[in-house]
Amino acid sequence: MNALRAGLYIVATPIGNLGDLSPRAADILSRADVIAVEDSRVTAGLLRHLGVKRPMTPYHDHNAEGVRPGLVARMASEAVALVSDAGTPLISDPGYKLVRDARAAGHTVVTIPGPCAAVAALTLAGLPTDRFLFCGFLPSKAQARAAAIAEVATVRATLILYESGPRLAACLSALAEGLGDRDAAVTREITKHYEEAVSGTLSTLATRYAEAAPKGEIVVVVAPPGEAPPASDDEADAALAEALTRLPVAKAASEVAKRLGVDRKALYARALEMKS
Ligand code: SAM
Repeated sequence: MNALRAGLYIVATPIGNLGDLSPRAADILSRADVIAVEDSRVTAGLLRHLGVKRPMTPYHDHNAEGVRPGLVARMASEAVALVSDAGTPLISDPGYKLVRDARAAGHTVVTIPGPCAAVAALTLAGLPTDRFLFCGFLPSKAQARAAAIAEVATVRATLILYESGPRLAACLSALAEGLGDRDAAVTREITKHYEEAVSGTLSTLATRYAEAAPKGEIVVVVAPPGEAPPASDDEADAALAEALTRLPVAKAASEVAKRLGVDRKALYARALEMKS
């Protein structure tokens, strides 16, 4: 078996169904000099499935700072693979600083893409896919969670969030409160026996899961905000009157047109009328 070129290999692994391990990922894991793992028991199971034994070294949130320099040094002469317990390393999992430092040191960095729960959930949800924002896990404390939701409330994109079963109902209620009652999907146990995607508005989903917290792993997908209703004539007049206290007619019309999405020429004419 040929030795792998020295460097760092980012290897995506299955999120449930072992059949999703790509042949290329299997090849790299079988030939790596060392595999940096979150939990050696989990990765040992994957290696058993492949019928190979490779040295493993722990790399997780609690030891990463300490062990990173040593791992980066090894990449000069060894092939170091990075895996997480499931899915794509670096995505709500450790790894980006390892990639950053490996690249800064001039080492080869190769990615072996594959399963990722966020993207898999997006493909199940039946919601717009042209623009999406991955929000990871929201904070668990109510106030911090509401603040995080407020930050993304005006983003015109589908939102993807990781969540746990016991916190799901509270998370959905907080989303309904902070975003309005948008369409959403709760996807669960993707690629596993009990895979499901349940669609509904945020509030109906919150009610459903408040009755019984779901088991297993969960990704929530939330539709983008709907089109804002067009500003009424009264709203446009009020905004224009206020802007005219600060700005000349043309600038006031243009500022309000941009803010309310209203025709600039019509606003200009209206502003002239108001002035006279
Ligand atoms: N790096 C992983 C990835 O690429 O998806 C994510 C790791 S993150 C620590 C774990 C979270 O991902 C879980 O709490 C859950 O929200 C989501 N997740 C992982 N596997 C899943 C699955 N099979 N079905 C649904 N969600 C999953």
